[in-house]
Amino acid sequence: MYNRRSFLQTVSQQVAYSVLAVNGLYALSSCGNSGSNEEKKQAEKNREKNKGKLGIALVGLGTYSEEQLAPALKETEHCYLAGIVTGTPDKIDKWKRKYDIPDQNIYSYDNFDSIRDNPSIDIIYVVLPNSMHAEYTERAFAAGKHVICEKPMALTVEECDRMIAASKKANKMLSIGYRLHFEPYNQEMMRLGADKPYGKFKSLKAENGMNGTEGWRLDKKLAGGGPLPDVGVYCIQGIRYTTGMEPLAVRAQEGPKKDKEMFREVEASLSWQMEMPGGVTAHCKTSYEEDMNLLRAEAEKGWFELDPAYPYSGQKGETSQGKIDFPKVNQQALQMDDFAQAVLTKRPTPVSGEMGRQDVKIITSIYEAMETGKRVLIPA
Ligand code: NAD
Repeated sequence: MYNRRSFLQTVSQQVAYSVLAVNGLYALSSCGNSGSNEEKKQAEKNREKNKGKLGIALVGLGTYSEEQLAPALKETEHCYLAGIVTGTPDKIDKWKRKYDIPDQNIYSYDNFDSIRDNPSIDIIYVVLPNSMHAEYTERAFAAGKHVICEKPMALTVEECDRMIAASKKANKMLSIGYRLHFEPYNQEMMRLGADKPYGKFKSLKAENGMNGTEGWRLDKKLAGGGPLPDVGVYCIQGIRYTTGMEPLAVRAQEGPKKDKEMFREVEASLSWQMEMPGGVTAHCKTSYEEDMNLLRAEAEKGWFELDPAYPYSGQKGETSQGKIDFPKVNQQALQMDDFAQAVLTKRPTPVSGEMGRQDVKIITSIYEAMETGKRVLIPA
């Protein structure tokens, strides 16, 4: 059951599909910005090297951009790192040298809107603190670009609505950085959930947490909450993509705080139970004070699980019939390549703004349940 055939089939189909798309539909246009002759030559060289690929600009050069997305963009086949947007001029030199980024593709938050005049940038990837996702996504659409926005999509459903409306108005695509949809172990959870070789679901468990955090993640205005929107969102996602179902109602309990000073503004941990259709309960937990990383389904004729489920690599999986074994992939490279192909071939992205909005809606209901102590119906 766990040979690699279906996974490799999917990958080879995607490759064939994208070669067609790139050859047939897209040619990069030249950038009209001014610069020195040396810079122009460098820009020309860069364009030649990346011919046929879509240009991505990363907005926010923090840990995730620097350690995951930018390195992944060296492995992508259909997009490349064309530009950066940063509020920290000290970072520019290092990024320019490491990724061959021409000066005319480097922006600050102040001149970001002029990116509309730069045809080398096709996709803006918003990798800022959560409270800034909506503003920069809207500004990117106003500049006529496609957008990938990191999770959580935004702080409120209203912000998500504005982002989706901006995407429609600009006629450009919006995707959320849900990398695990492109990761084979998590894809196997989706397959087992859909094909049901172990029968109907009895219950589910999803836990994601780490011991420690810092910076804006502890500031409620910037983060929107504690571990729930940051890493708990993977549990919500895991339950949704494993079952293919939407939670109907939720109860939630805030956990005790070991460090009350550190967690002045946000929860340190949180448990919640989601009622799924068919009388199935999903038991979930997230924390900034405890390491945990699990996605597990109990079904009538067996069980299947990933432990760990959500890291950048190193997933391990098992079912009641034995180990799950898949090749290692670069999740972020696959995620960004899939979006580039979606843009090139004008097909929908599997990780849409609507999907991100649903998670924000569920997060809002979980917080309401936590604060009121009541069972909260998740609005339709
Ligand atoms: P980070 O703190 O390392 O980087 C944040 C960046 O935003 C920095 O470059 C910082 O200079 C900039 N910034 C601009 N205005 C700021 C302000 N007012 N306060 C603080 N920083 C400001 O954070 P990160 O870990 O790179 O996370 C960025 C986004 O990416 C978050 O939305 C996070 O949820 C998401 N993320 C996603 C994954 C994933 O696996 N998909 C992993 C990590 C982070």
